[in-house]
Amino acid sequence: MDKDTYNALLERIDQAIENGRKEFLDIFLDSIRYKTVNPPGDELEFAKFLTEKLAQEGVEVELQEVRPGRPNALGYVRFGQGGKKLLFNSHMDTVPAGAANWETDPFEPVIKDGLVYGRGVADDKGGLISMLIACIVLQRLKPEINGEIIFCGAMGEETGGIGTEYWVNSGRRVDAAVIGEPSKMELVIAHRGAYRPSIYFYGKTAHSSEPSQGENAIYYASNFVQGIQELEERLKNKEHYLTGYPTIALTIFNGGVKVNVIPDKVEVAMDRRISPGEKVEEAKKEIEDLLKELAEQGKIGRYEFGPCIDNKGAGIVAEDEAIVKHMQKVLKRRGYDDKLVGMRATTDMYLLTDAGIPTIIFGPGDMAQAHRPNEHFPLEELYEAAKIYAELAVNFFLD
Ligand SMILES: [Zn+2]
Repeated sequence: MDKDTYNALLERIDQAIENGRKEFLDIFLDSIRYKTVNPPGDELEFAKFLTEKLAQEGVEVELQEVRPGRPNALGYVRFGQGGKKLLFNSHMDTVPAGAANWETDPFEPVIKDGLVYGRGVADDKGGLISMLIACIVLQRLKPEINGEIIFCGAMGEETGGIGTEYWVNSGRRVDAAVIGEPSKMELVIAHRGAYRPSIYFYGKTAHSSEPSQGENAIYYASNFVQGIQELEERLKNKEHYLTGYPTIALTIFNGGVKVNVIPDKVEVAMDRRISPGEKVEEAKKEIEDLLKELAEQGKIGRYEFGPCIDNKGAGIVAEDEAIVKHMQKVLKRRGYDDKLVGMRATTDMYLLTDAGIPTIIFGPGDMAQAHRPNEHFPLEELYEAAKIYAELAVNFFLD
């Protein structure tokens, strides 16, 4: 494609998105009205909505059932013959709205001062609908290029990333991927993971009038808590240049049965955030070493690891990967900052990078809004991100 044709195509993309503002806004507002709250998920009707929008344009679609009645929404936007494959992945589910502190109905979007309010506007329906718009517009424009966009509205991201994991495990492969999590329109090339163990501390029950006849599991667990606080301080020395230092936070402390009984069991759970390059096994070993040390000092009794919920790895992509370079080029041309940044939250990115798929995160909206009451999203970025996704695809396919 010569330079004039290329520039004319980019011009047509922008125009098609500008002309479609009303249509695309309606799609976005409708997307918020689908209660895809996870748990339980309930992505089915929304998945049908997304695939119908694509099917109307003549795009081949697929509902990939991951759990009964809970599919990934897939679309295959093809141009020319063969060429590279690019995955657009954003998730359909949201966290619950929470009962309190919403000033508006979380599932009836409200626009005020350029911001849209509703559950999921930023995390992750903004990115998801921007990607959908890019697909619709490119399908309508039928550019003379070779390549294929795989649109994926992923289910189950908020509870372990099971939708994207299933997509990967079903053998689907692409040359590169973009995750549409809210990144404030910044180019994210790494994110942290999470290791979330729980540990049971055991003691010996006794009447609390005779504490010396028992072993108090709360005292044991408290010694461990102190050790974790010290570990938290030490982690501050393990700075990662993109995602900052890893963290550990104690999040659950459960124990005791009755006010006059020495407790014989306490559960402690924690959330250890993993830096790119760190391994879950290393994080686990730090905690095991602490437990061993405390046991040798007689500061804890018997203990055991309980279930580990929602572990997620860390993801990173090399700075010189084609998808990174192409996105930088697009951002630069559009006057955006093309610096490379890291994300402290977990995402589905690592599932793709672990499978060898170079993946970036880029999306409209701010992750700081995620999981909050009065979640809001700058509407203008819906259209801007759609333009960027569409241009990125063209750029990537022409390479
Ligand atoms: Zn998200």
